[in-house]
Amino acid sequence: MSANDFDVVIVGGGHNGLVAACYLAKAGLKICILEKNESLGGATVSQKVFTDFDARLSRYSYLVSLLPDQIILDLGLDFEVLSRDVASFTPELVESENSGLLITTEPSEETEANFELLTGNLEEYAAWQSFYGELHQMAQAIAPTLLKPLPSRSELRAIVGQPIWNDIMEAPLGEAIERRFKSDLVRGIVLTDGLIGTFADAHDFAANRCFVYHLIGNGSGEWKVPRGGMGKLVAELTRLATELGVQIETNSQVIAIKNNSAGFEIETETGPTYQSKYVLANCAPQTLAKLAGTPMPESLDGSQVKINMLLKKLPRLKSGIDPKLAFAGTFHFDERYTDLQLAYAQSAAGYIPDLIPAEMYCHTLTDDSILSPELNAAGYQTLTMFVMHTPANLFDQNHDQVKTEIKSKVIHQLNKYLLDPIEDCLALASDGSLCIEVKSPQEIEKEIGLPRGNIFHKDLSFPFREDGEAASWGVETAIPNLFLCGAGAIRGGGVSGIPGHNAAAAVLERLKG
Ligand SMILES: Cc1cc2nc3c(=O)[nH]c(=O)nc-3n(C[C@H](O)[C@H](O)[C@H](O)COP(=O)(O)OP(=O)(O)OC[C@H]3O[C@@H](n4cnc5c(N)ncnc54)[C@H](O)[C@@H]3O)c2cc1C
Repeated sequence: MSANDFDVVIVGGGHNGLVAACYLAKAGLKICILEKNESLGGATVSQKVFTDFDARLSRYSYLVSLLPDQIILDLGLDFEVLSRDVASFTPELVESENSGLLITTEPSEETEANFELLTGNLEEYAAWQSFYGELHQMAQAIAPTLLKPLPSRSELRAIVGQPIWNDIMEAPLGEAIERRFKSDLVRGIVLTDGLIGTFADAHDFAANRCFVYHLIGNGSGEWKVPRGGMGKLVAELTRLATELGVQIETNSQVIAIKNNSAGFEIETETGPTYQSKYVLANCAPQTLAKLAGTPMPESLDGSQVKINMLLKKLPRLKSGIDPKLAFAGTFHFDERYTDLQLAYAQSAAGYIPDLIPAEMYCHTLTDDSILSPELNAAGYQTLTMFVMHTPANLFDQNHDQVKTEIKSKVIHQLNKYLLDPIEDCLALASDGSLCIEVKSPQEIEKEIGLPRGNIFHKDLSFPFREDGEAASWGVETAIPNLFLCGAGAIRGGGVSGIPGHNAAAAVLERLKG
């Protein structure tokens, strides 16, 4: 083998590429990762966004649910995720009074009382308990299948059971939500899990697919805070990959993948060419199509704006709730069901929605290790906001103007619920600017290569194959020995390591013959 000859070349050093590399190197294979950026991690990174301050923000992805404990155990990673006591808080006016719905992570009398206050009786709470109880059973059934070859539709249906299978997999999500819940606010909170990173109407199956992945992680669907931030995961994977002898080349953009009888030849923009028997593509399938001539997948554009903030203090709320409770879980605002549906319709028609649905959370209330001791002592906090239904096409013309308009609209909306305007709470940089950064889908594409800013590379797929389709790991492509190992694989999407694990498993299975 020459120096540039490998068993497996991995195109892209996102967390999934690193997971695949670790499994394969542990199995004794010679592995090379080619990453186009200066640093590894892709959408899973911590960065000092505001250079005056030692605050390492999870710049893109921020919460973890889908990463199976098994991967952490298999690879012996020093990586921990922390539960939050509060699942969510949604501010709302009740009879002209500022109030809100606080939902604790575990069932509680407080949550029950809040549902009663917000909806007038306990029916909605009972509907919530029953729906999420069934979803928990669905999660328990699906989670153990995620690191195995794809089950068929009938196999998965048999283990998930009815009626939840039909509600989630066979009928538009909006039908189940409208049948099971009456409150516009509660319906909206449920629907958001179908729309994070997915531009869809409640009656579009894209929302069902997105909903599934938001509810099944580790058999509970609980979204947890990564201790040390997202970059900690990539730092651990990089440490292990390096110890296992994986060759990692950054600033190495792959420009072509050619296959011949001997295997693959991988060309980079900087010059060196690499040879391998197998190629794993951690880049998006759309990128792979350009590099290797595989079919170009159809996909929705990304539809979110990400806002990162560093604060001197948390704002107080008009409802009077303690900010440490309100911002510890997901703080939903203007995400009522009718808000979401109207915002979708307006964006789909090419307009910035009148009311832009958004949600955010404070990392540092659960894990202050991302701030320096000095910032912690001074009471600094972070907020990360995910703004929905702002698809890439809105920004195609007048990018900067649209970005400014969306930012000011969302800030104005948020301030409606706050006693202290958010601007008064933001940290000030030495040049006098406020510590807030806004990322459009186009900027996300430019920085980390997510096509049109789609956070899952491309639209998600249900976690099964159709009956009669050939057995697979969900990572295969039209070219033998070339596998997807990133978010664009079936059961990819999110910070999960699942497609990385499954691509490695597919290679090892082929090698066994
Ligand atoms: C704003 C935002 C918020 C999100 N929030 C969450 C969240 O809270 N929780 C969650 O689970 N998920 C979240 N996601 C989604 C999640 O981050 C991604 O789905 C996941 O990180 C994808 O990981 P990956 O390793 O498959 O791909 P990526 O992270 O996209 O990595 C792919 C790598 O390939 C490299 N690459 C691309 N093309 C080439 C080439 N030609 N040559 C060499 N290298 C190349 C890229 O530079 C990149 O490093 C979010 C994403 C975004 C953008």
